[in-house]
Amino acid sequence: MKYCSRCHSYHNDSQNFCPTCGYELVPVMQTPPPPPGYDRYDYGDNAFSAAGPEGKSRGVAALLAILLGGLGVHYFYLGKIGAGLVTILLTIVTCSLWDIITLIQGILMFCMTNREFEEKYVRNPAFFPLF
Ligand SMILES: [Zn+2]
Repeated sequence: MKYCSRCHSYHNDSQNFCPTCGYELVPVMQTPPPPPGYDRYDYGDNAFSAAGPEGKSRGVAALLAILLGGLGVHYFYLGKIGAGLVTILLTIVTCSLWDIITLIQGILMFCMTNREFEEKYVRNPAFFPLF
């Protein structure tokens, strides 16, 4: 596929000049489809604050889990509303003992890589991903 930048038309590869205006055609840069298993997220950057493709940062989630974990805030942040509500329930039922679980969750989030975090909490379709 070739493109005429003067009249913004597309032509087939066999033509070198635009049949309409005579302007030189340039090959269209076609972005190849991503290979299977391709990851949009650049995991090279393992910074806490680096947000994944879904815009969820491991650092924010970890801090929320440690500071407000008992209220399920980290789950709400991750878009797992159901899990957040279950966490609130568990906190009430266990008289805030569940805070220990979310504290451990937060610490684990700090220790894991961005990729692990993505797979475990962001892209995981599970209703209630724990560890
Ligand atoms: Zn043209």
